Amino acid sequence: MNIMVTNDDGIHAAGIRALAEAMAELGTVTVVAPDRERSAVGHSLTLHSPLRIFELHAGWYAVDGTPTDCVNMGIHNMLPIKPDLVVSGINHGANLGDDITYSGTVAAAMEANLMGIPAIAFSLATYEPSNNFTDAAQIAVQIARQVITNGLPSDTFLNVNIPDYPGDRILAPLITRQGKRSFIGKIVDKTDPRGRKYFWVGSEEPHRNDEPGSDFHAINRRHISITPLHLDLTNHKSIPILSEWAF
Ligand code: MN
Repeated sequence: MNIMVTNDDGIHAAGIRALAEAMAELGTVTVVAPDRERSAVGHSLTLHSPLRIFELHAGWYAVDGTPTDCVNMGIHNMLPIKPDLVVSGINHGANLGDDITYSGTVAAAMEANLMGIPAIAFSLATYEPSNNFTDAAQIAVQIARQVITNGLPSDTFLNVNIPDYPGDRILAPLITRQGKRSFIGKIVDKTDPRGRKYFWVGSEEPHRNDEPGSDFHAINRRHISITPLHLDLTNHKSIPILSEWAF
């Protein structure tokens, strides 16, 4: 097995180290990750500036680009052969509900999926400092093993969120759907030392709808959440409705 590991917290984050070390149990690991934190860049691609690669040590490459750039660079330019699996994370912070559309962690898995490679995004559901990345990485290996054994359904990649507890306190994985959140996050409005206004987004935890079957519901109950995602954003239910309109 050839496994590519990436993330959006940057190559120096604790989560990617734990994930890369644990994945070595399943095969040869190559890390291609942003040289600094790139959280919330979503699926962005660097088009208007060059990209550079820095080899930190054997099999560990930092790229001065986004997670999506890393997947592209890794697969087209750096890995000797196409990887059998791309894993992204372990993100420090949950990627649940509508928030996944901002996530660089999830976007990296999305990019691999676009390239026809099985892919999993892993996140640790906490914004506090955490010591549980090693336990979460063991869970990631078990999930990756299932993906390798069974093969993912077509057009599917996985968004996995792991509760922030020691491994023996985490409950079994639930297959979930993407939940909803109501955004009530304020934008902080202050004045800088030179008298100019500045604004800071996302200062508040959003309210999370705790609907049964959702990713939020699983995580709130200490379960691992596994959400199968696909890239078709079409609202299929709306097609017959809009087809009746007199465009
Ligand atoms: Mn992140």
